[in-house]
Amino acid sequence: MSAAIYAGTFDPITNGHVSIIRSGLVAFDRIIVAVLTNTKKSPLFSVAERTEMIEDAIGGETRVEVDRFDDGLLVEYAKRKGVRVVLRGLRAVGDFEHELQLANMNRHLDPDIETVFIMASDYFFVSSTLIKEAASLGGSLEGMVPSLVADRLRAKFGR
Ligand code: ADP
Repeated sequence: MSAAIYAGTFDPITNGHVSIIRSGLVAFDRIIVAVLTNTKKSPLFSVAERTEMIEDAIGGETRVEVDRFDDGLLVEYAKRKGVRVVLRGLRAVGDFEHELQLANMNRHLDPDIETVFIMASDYFFVSSTLIKEAASLGGSLEGMVPSLVADRLRAKFGR
């Protein structure tokens, strides 16, 4: 069985993330969505909230496992899970430089772990950061995030 790890902060999950997971399922039998808990980004949502929104968005897809990734190197986590592929999404040229560095750093740390990229399509302009900004200002999130995420964002920002 082929498997890949899709790690991120998912604060919150967007339709962009969901589309990468769906495309990933075309290429891999199994995807482990790993929620980064120890992030420098001071997330808006707790790990439990982020996990719940991912599980709701993926809606009972048995080939997806939602897990948490607490500490240490991603390559070590992958190894523990017995997975050799890290899946990433590429939105625009802006993502490229950082992703190139990250993929090569991971390759340097562990040559057995390979990074695979999937090109963003419909949601190339969507990021969790921009979604939170739009939500905080009362903007419409229509079509950009799963419905539970839209509800939770409205509740967070009291709108
Ligand atoms: P990070 O935690 O690295 O800031 P995220 O948690 O936002 O990143 O996303 C994890 C992965 O999903 C990254 O590879 C990122 O490029 C990808 N991604 C995020 N938003 C989108 C999108 N709208 N379309 C495609 N890929 C995306």
